Amino acid sequence: MTNHAAFAAEDAVTAVPPPAQAGRHFSSFPPRRARDCRKAALGRMDLAASGVLRGGSLLDSMKASSPRHAKFAAGADHEDWMEKHPSALEWIEAVVAAAKGKQIVMFLDYDGTLSPIVEDPDSAVMTEEMRDAVRSVAQHFPTAIVSGRSRDKVLNFVKLEELYYAGSHGMDIKGPTTVSNHKAKADEVLCQPATDFLPVIQEVYETLTAKMEAIPGAMVENNKFCLSVHFRCVDEEEWDALGKEVRAVLEGYPDLRLTKGRKVLEIRPSIKWDKGNALEFLLESLGYAGRGDVFPIYIGDDRTDEDAFKVLRNMGQGIGILVTKFAKETTASYSLREPAEVKDFLRKLVMSTGTKG
Ligand SMILES: [Mg+2]
Repeated sequence: MTNHAAFAAEDAVTAVPPPAQAGRHFSSFPPRRARDCRKAALGRMDLAASGVLRGGSLLDSMKASSPRHAKFAAGADHEDWMEKHPSALEWIEAVVAAAKGKQIVMFLDYDGTLSPIVEDPDSAVMTEEMRDAVRSVAQHFPTAIVSGRSRDKVLNFVKLEELYYAGSHGMDIKGPTTVSNHKAKADEVLCQPATDFLPVIQEVYETLTAKMEAIPGAMVENNKFCLSVHFRCVDEEEWDALGKEVRAVLEGYPDLRLTKGRKVLEIRPSIKWDKGNALEFLLESLGYAGRGDVFPIYIGDDRTDEDAFKVLRNMGQGIGILVTKFAKETTASYSLREPAEVKDFLRKLVMSTGTKG
Protein backbone atom coordinates (compact mmCIF):
# COMPACT_ATOMS: atom_id res chain seq x y z
CA MET A 1 0.00 0.00 0.00
CA THR A 2 3.04 2.24 0.24
CA ASN A 3 2.73 3.66 -3.25
CA HIS A 4 -0.79 4.83 -2.90
CA ALA A 5 -0.53 5.79 0.72
CA ALA A 6 2.25 8.19 -0.22
CA PHE A 7 0.16 9.56 -3.07
CA ALA A 8 -2.79 10.10 -0.77
CA ALA A 9 -0.69 11.86 1.82
CA GLU A 10 0.62 14.28 -0.80
CA ASP A 11 -2.88 15.06 -1.95
CA ALA A 12 -4.36 15.53 1.46
CA VAL A 13 -3.95 18.20 4.09
CA THR A 14 -0.41 18.80 5.19
CA ALA A 15 -1.08 21.02 8.20
CA VAL A 16 -1.37 19.41 11.62
CA PRO A 17 -4.65 20.69 13.03
CA PRO A 18 -6.05 20.58 16.53
CA PRO A 19 -8.39 17.63 17.20
CA ALA A 20 -11.91 17.93 15.81
CA GLN A 21 -14.57 18.92 18.31
CA ALA A 22 -17.24 16.29 18.46
CA GLY A 23 -20.72 17.42 17.53
CA ARG A 24 -19.72 21.02 17.08
CA HIS A 25 -20.37 21.15 13.39
CA PHE A 26 -24.13 20.93 13.64
CA SER A 27 -24.80 23.01 16.71
CA SER A 28 -22.62 25.89 15.48
CA PHE A 29 -24.38 26.15 12.15
CA PRO A 30 -25.21 29.80 11.50
CA PRO A 31 -27.92 30.15 8.84
CA ARG A 32 -27.06 32.86 6.31
CA ARG A 33 -29.46 35.14 4.58
CA ALA A 34 -30.23 34.28 0.99
CA ARG A 35 -29.33 37.72 -0.24
CA ASP A 36 -25.72 37.39 0.98
CA CYS A 37 -24.72 34.82 -1.60
CA ARG A 38 -27.00 36.35 -4.21
CA LYS A 39 -25.15 39.61 -4.01
CA ALA A 40 -21.80 37.85 -4.14
CA ALA A 41 -22.72 35.81 -7.19
CA LEU A 42 -24.31 38.65 -9.12
CA GLY A 43 -21.17 40.66 -8.55
CA ARG A 44 -19.26 38.07 -10.49
CA MET A 45 -21.11 37.58 -13.76
CA ASP A 46 -19.41 34.78 -15.58
CA LEU A 47 -19.16 36.59 -18.89
CA ALA A 48 -16.37 34.39 -20.17
CA ALA A 49 -18.52 31.32 -19.77
CA SER A 50 -21.32 32.83 -21.82
CA GLY A 51 -18.85 32.80 -24.72
CA VAL A 52 -20.13 29.31 -25.47
CA LEU A 53 -22.28 30.95 -28.11
CA ARG A 54 -19.16 31.98 -29.97
CA GLY A 55 -16.83 29.65 -31.83
CA GLY A 56 -16.04 25.99 -31.24
CA SER A 57 -18.15 23.03 -32.20
CA LEU A 58 -20.96 22.30 -29.79
CA LEU A 59 -21.37 18.86 -31.36
CA ASP A 60 -17.72 18.02 -30.68
CA SER A 61 -18.01 19.04 -27.05
CA MET A 62 -21.30 17.14 -26.70
CA LYS A 63 -19.49 14.01 -27.91
CA ALA A 64 -16.49 14.67 -25.68
CA SER A 65 -18.76 15.00 -22.63
CA SER A 66 -20.67 11.85 -23.54
CA PRO A 67 -17.97 9.35 -24.54
CA ARG A 68 -18.80 6.02 -26.01
CA HIS A 69 -17.22 3.87 -23.37
CA ALA A 70 -16.03 1.12 -25.71
CA LYS A 71 -13.04 3.21 -26.64
CA PHE A 72 -11.87 3.26 -23.04
CA ALA A 73 -11.13 -0.46 -22.82
CA ALA A 74 -8.92 -1.55 -19.95
CA GLY A 75 -5.25 -1.46 -20.85
CA ALA A 76 -1.97 0.21 -20.03
CA ASP A 77 -3.53 3.68 -20.25
CA HIS A 78 -6.24 2.73 -17.81
CA GLU A 79 -3.72 1.22 -15.41
CA ASP A 80 -1.69 4.43 -15.59
CA TRP A 81 -4.84 6.44 -14.86
CA MET A 82 -5.66 4.21 -11.88
CA GLU A 83 -2.17 4.84 -10.51
CA LYS A 84 -2.97 8.55 -10.53
CA HIS A 85 -6.57 8.17 -9.30
CA PRO A 86 -6.56 5.04 -7.12
CA SER A 87 -9.69 3.37 -5.82
CA ALA A 88 -10.93 5.16 -2.70
CA LEU A 89 -12.41 1.86 -1.59
CA GLU A 90 -9.18 -0.07 -1.98
CA TRP A 91 -7.18 2.66 -0.27
CA ILE A 92 -9.68 3.62 2.38
CA GLU A 93 -7.05 3.22 5.09
CA ALA A 94 -5.04 6.00 3.44
CA VAL A 95 -8.15 8.20 3.28
CA VAL A 96 -8.95 7.57 6.95
CA ALA A 97 -5.32 8.26 7.90
CA ALA A 98 -5.36 11.57 6.02
CA ALA A 99 -8.64 12.56 7.77
CA LYS A 100 -7.43 11.57 11.25
CA GLY A 101 -7.96 14.34 13.79
CA LYS A 102 -10.07 16.34 11.37
CA GLN A 103 -13.80 16.82 10.90
CA ILE A 104 -15.00 15.04 7.79
CA VAL A 105 -17.69 16.90 5.83
CA MET A 106 -19.33 14.81 3.12
CA PHE A 107 -20.53 16.18 -0.22
CA LEU A 108 -22.38 13.82 -2.56
CA ASP A 109 -23.57 14.32 -6.11
CA TYR A 110 -26.77 12.42 -6.87
CA ASP A 111 -27.12 11.13 -10.47
CA GLY A 112 -24.41 8.61 -11.32
CA THR A 113 -23.08 8.78 -7.77
CA LEU A 114 -25.91 7.68 -5.47
CA SER A 115 -28.14 6.40 -8.26
CA PRO A 116 -27.26 4.75 -11.55
CA ILE A 117 -27.59 6.80 -14.74
CA VAL A 118 -30.85 5.71 -16.36
CA GLU A 119 -32.55 6.59 -19.62
CA ASP A 120 -35.49 8.33 -17.95
CA PRO A 121 -34.16 10.94 -15.50
CA ASP A 122 -37.40 10.76 -13.53
CA SER A 123 -36.65 7.11 -12.75
CA ALA A 124 -33.21 7.67 -11.18
CA VAL A 125 -34.15 6.26 -7.80
CA MET A 126 -31.62 5.21 -5.18
CA THR A 127 -31.72 1.86 -3.42
CA GLU A 128 -32.78 1.43 0.20
CA GLU A 129 -29.25 0.13 0.92
CA MET A 130 -27.76 3.34 -0.46
CA ARG A 131 -30.22 5.40 1.57
CA ASP A 132 -29.14 3.53 4.71
CA ALA A 133 -25.48 4.20 3.91
CA VAL A 134 -26.10 7.94 3.38
CA ARG A 135 -28.23 8.11 6.54
CA SER A 136 -25.41 6.50 8.50
CA VAL A 137 -22.83 8.92 7.09
CA ALA A 138 -25.07 11.86 8.02
CA GLN A 139 -25.27 10.60 11.60
CA HIS A 140 -21.49 10.90 11.83
CA PHE A 141 -20.59 13.83 9.60
CA PRO A 142 -22.30 16.92 8.17
CA THR A 143 -23.54 15.70 4.80
CA ALA A 144 -24.75 17.59 1.74
CA ILE A 145 -26.24 16.47 -1.56
CA VAL A 146 -24.99 18.67 -4.41
CA SER A 147 -26.94 18.16 -7.62
CA GLY A 148 -27.89 19.78 -10.91
CA ARG A 149 -31.48 18.78 -10.22
CA SER A 150 -33.95 21.03 -8.50
CA ARG A 151 -33.62 20.83 -4.73
CA ASP A 152 -37.17 19.55 -4.31
CA LYS A 153 -36.65 16.80 -6.85
CA VAL A 154 -33.41 15.54 -5.37
CA LEU A 155 -34.89 15.61 -1.86
CA ASN A 156 -37.76 13.56 -3.21
CA PHE A 157 -35.28 10.97 -4.47
CA VAL A 158 -33.06 10.90 -1.39
CA LYS A 159 -35.84 11.32 1.21
CA LEU A 160 -33.47 12.19 4.08
CA GLU A 161 -34.44 15.46 5.74
CA GLU A 162 -31.38 15.53 7.99
CA LEU A 163 -29.09 16.43 5.07
CA TYR A 164 -28.09 19.72 3.48
CA TYR A 165 -29.27 20.05 -0.11
CA ALA A 166 -27.67 22.15 -2.84
CA GLY A 167 -29.91 21.88 -5.91
CA SER A 168 -29.66 23.57 -9.32
CA HIS A 169 -25.85 23.16 -9.35
CA GLY A 170 -25.59 24.82 -5.96
CA MET A 171 -27.87 27.78 -6.77
CA ASP A 172 -30.49 26.63 -4.27
CA ILE A 173 -29.07 25.62 -0.90
CA LYS A 174 -31.05 24.66 2.17
CA GLY A 175 -30.16 23.17 5.53
CA PRO A 176 -31.69 20.14 7.26
CA THR A 177 -35.41 20.34 7.93
CA THR A 178 -35.53 17.85 10.75
CA VAL A 179 -33.92 17.57 14.15
CA SER A 180 -31.23 14.91 14.24
CA ASN A 181 -28.90 13.60 16.94
CA HIS A 182 -26.50 16.45 16.37
CA LYS A 183 -28.25 19.60 15.33
CA ALA A 184 -30.98 22.07 15.86
CA LYS A 185 -33.67 22.74 13.30
CA ALA A 186 -32.41 25.03 10.55
CA ASP A 187 -34.93 25.05 7.78
CA GLU A 188 -34.60 28.45 6.18
CA VAL A 189 -33.22 28.73 2.70
CA LEU A 190 -29.53 29.47 2.96
CA CYS A 191 -28.58 30.58 -0.49
CA GLN A 192 -30.38 31.40 -3.73
CA PRO A 193 -27.99 33.57 -5.75
CA ALA A 194 -29.99 33.46 -9.00
CA THR A 195 -33.56 34.38 -8.07
CA ASP A 196 -33.54 37.27 -10.59
CA PHE A 197 -33.22 34.66 -13.34
CA LEU A 198 -36.36 32.66 -12.46
CA PRO A 199 -38.69 34.33 -15.02
CA VAL A 200 -36.22 33.99 -17.87
CA ILE A 201 -35.44 30.37 -17.00
CA GLN A 202 -39.16 29.59 -17.10
CA GLU A 203 -39.50 31.36 -20.44
CA VAL A 204 -36.61 29.43 -21.98
CA TYR A 205 -37.98 26.20 -20.53
CA GLU A 206 -41.26 26.71 -22.34
CA THR A 207 -39.54 27.65 -25.61
CA LEU A 208 -37.14 24.72 -25.50
CA THR A 209 -39.84 22.24 -24.55
CA ALA A 210 -41.77 23.26 -27.67
CA LYS A 211 -38.66 23.11 -29.91
CA MET A 212 -37.53 19.72 -28.61
CA GLU A 213 -40.81 18.10 -29.54
CA ALA A 214 -39.39 17.83 -33.07
CA ILE A 215 -36.41 15.74 -31.87
CA PRO A 216 -37.41 12.21 -30.82
CA GLY A 217 -36.11 11.26 -27.39
CA ALA A 218 -35.11 14.79 -26.35
CA MET A 219 -36.32 15.90 -22.93
CA VAL A 220 -36.15 19.27 -21.21
CA GLU A 221 -36.04 19.18 -17.41
CA ASN A 222 -36.85 22.26 -15.34
CA ASN A 223 -34.44 22.38 -12.41
CA LYS A 224 -35.79 25.71 -11.15
CA PHE A 225 -32.63 27.83 -11.49
CA CYS A 226 -31.30 25.90 -14.47
CA LEU A 227 -32.50 23.67 -17.27
CA SER A 228 -31.30 20.30 -18.53
CA VAL A 229 -31.76 19.17 -22.11
CA HIS A 230 -31.29 15.40 -21.99
CA PHE A 231 -30.19 13.65 -25.16
CA ARG A 232 -29.52 10.21 -23.72
CA CYS A 233 -32.42 8.81 -25.73
CA VAL A 234 -31.69 10.80 -28.90
CA ASP A 235 -30.03 9.14 -31.94
CA GLU A 236 -26.50 10.44 -32.32
CA GLU A 237 -27.35 11.60 -35.85
CA GLU A 238 -29.74 14.09 -34.24
CA TRP A 239 -27.28 15.51 -31.70
CA ASP A 240 -26.05 18.22 -34.07
CA ALA A 241 -29.60 19.40 -34.80
CA LEU A 242 -30.40 19.37 -31.08
CA GLY A 243 -27.29 21.38 -30.21
CA LYS A 244 -27.98 23.95 -32.93
CA GLU A 245 -31.57 24.34 -31.82
CA VAL A 246 -30.55 24.92 -28.21
CA ARG A 247 -27.89 27.38 -29.29
CA ALA A 248 -30.38 29.26 -31.48
CA VAL A 249 -32.78 29.67 -28.56
CA LEU A 250 -30.01 30.89 -26.27
CA GLU A 251 -28.88 33.54 -28.73
CA GLY A 252 -31.74 35.66 -27.42
CA TYR A 253 -30.57 35.26 -23.84
CA PRO A 254 -27.01 36.53 -23.38
CA ASP A 255 -27.32 36.25 -19.60
CA LEU A 256 -27.65 32.50 -19.81
CA ARG A 257 -24.84 30.07 -20.48
CA LEU A 258 -24.56 26.56 -21.76
CA THR A 259 -22.49 23.76 -20.24
CA LYS A 260 -22.20 20.10 -21.12
CA GLY A 261 -22.56 16.99 -19.00
CA ARG A 262 -23.06 13.30 -19.67
CA LYS A 263 -25.60 13.28 -22.49
CA VAL A 264 -27.12 16.47 -21.19
CA LEU A 265 -26.83 20.16 -22.04
CA GLU A 266 -27.24 22.44 -19.05
CA ILE A 267 -28.53 25.99 -19.29
CA ARG A 268 -27.93 28.26 -16.36
CA PRO A 269 -27.48 31.90 -15.37
CA SER A 270 -24.17 33.48 -16.33
CA ILE A 271 -23.14 34.04 -12.76
CA LYS A 272 -20.01 32.59 -11.25
CA TRP A 273 -21.75 30.10 -9.05
CA ASP A 274 -21.24 26.37 -9.41
CA LYS A 275 -20.84 23.24 -7.32
CA GLY A 276 -17.46 24.51 -6.16
CA ASN A 277 -19.04 27.71 -4.85
CA ALA A 278 -21.72 25.62 -3.14
CA LEU A 279 -19.03 23.57 -1.41
CA GLU A 280 -17.25 26.72 -0.22
CA PHE A 281 -20.53 28.30 0.90
CA LEU A 282 -21.50 25.26 2.94
CA LEU A 283 -18.08 24.97 4.57
CA GLU A 284 -18.30 28.65 5.50
CA SER A 285 -21.86 28.27 6.80
CA LEU A 286 -20.76 25.33 8.91
CA GLY A 287 -18.03 27.46 10.47
CA TYR A 288 -15.10 25.73 8.75
CA ALA A 289 -13.84 28.49 6.49
CA GLY A 290 -10.08 28.91 6.89
CA ARG A 291 -9.79 26.10 9.41
CA GLY A 292 -7.22 23.35 9.07
CA ASP A 293 -9.17 20.76 11.02
CA VAL A 294 -11.74 20.02 8.35
CA PHE A 295 -11.54 17.25 5.76
CA PRO A 296 -14.14 17.66 3.01
CA ILE A 297 -14.83 14.63 0.82
CA TYR A 298 -16.63 15.30 -2.45
CA ILE A 299 -17.90 12.38 -4.55
CA GLY A 300 -19.27 12.99 -8.06
CA ASP A 301 -19.27 11.58 -11.56
CA ASP A 302 -19.69 14.49 -13.93
CA ARG A 303 -17.86 17.44 -15.44
CA THR A 304 -19.89 19.80 -13.27
CA ASP A 305 -18.35 18.10 -10.22
CA GLU A 306 -14.89 19.12 -11.40
CA ASP A 307 -15.57 22.64 -10.08
CA ALA A 308 -15.80 21.18 -6.58
CA PHE A 309 -12.75 18.94 -7.11
CA LYS A 310 -10.77 22.03 -8.11
CA VAL A 311 -11.84 23.91 -4.98
CA LEU A 312 -10.58 21.06 -2.81
CA ARG A 313 -7.35 20.80 -4.77
CA ASN A 314 -6.77 24.55 -4.39
CA MET A 315 -7.62 24.44 -0.69
CA GLY A 316 -5.14 21.59 -0.20
CA GLN A 317 -7.70 20.02 2.07
CA GLY A 318 -9.79 16.89 1.77
CA ILE A 319 -10.20 14.76 -1.33
CA GLY A 320 -12.27 14.58 -4.49
CA ILE A 321 -13.48 11.19 -5.68
CA LEU A 322 -14.60 10.69 -9.29
CA VAL A 323 -17.14 7.94 -9.96
CA THR A 324 -16.22 6.35 -13.26
CA LYS A 325 -15.37 3.01 -14.81
CA PHE A 326 -13.24 4.68 -17.44
CA ALA A 327 -10.21 6.91 -17.58
CA LYS A 328 -11.20 10.59 -17.72
CA GLU A 329 -9.41 13.85 -17.28
CA THR A 330 -10.12 14.96 -13.72
CA THR A 331 -8.86 16.98 -10.78
CA ALA A 332 -10.15 14.34 -8.37
CA SER A 333 -7.57 12.43 -6.33
CA TYR A 334 -9.35 9.12 -6.10
CA SER A 335 -11.92 7.10 -8.03
CA LEU A 336 -14.78 4.70 -7.47
CA ARG A 337 -16.24 2.61 -10.28
CA GLU A 338 -19.99 2.91 -9.68
CA PRO A 339 -22.69 3.79 -7.14
CA ALA A 340 -22.39 0.34 -5.52
CA GLU A 341 -18.77 1.18 -4.67
CA VAL A 342 -19.83 4.59 -3.35
CA LYS A 343 -22.18 2.78 -0.97
CA ASP A 344 -19.40 0.42 0.19
CA PHE A 345 -17.02 3.35 0.62
CA LEU A 346 -19.54 5.27 2.76
CA ARG A 347 -20.16 2.22 4.93
CA LYS A 348 -16.48 1.50 5.41
CA LEU A 349 -15.72 5.14 6.15
CA VAL A 350 -18.26 5.16 8.97
CA MET A 351 -16.93 1.87 10.35
CA SER A 352 -13.29 3.00 10.06
CA THR A 353 -13.81 6.34 11.78
CA GLY A 354 -15.70 4.76 14.71
CA THR A 355 -17.48 7.22 16.95
CA LYS A 356 -15.72 10.30 15.59
CA GLY A 357 -17.94 13.26 14.83
MG1 LIG B 1 -23.81 13.18 -11.42
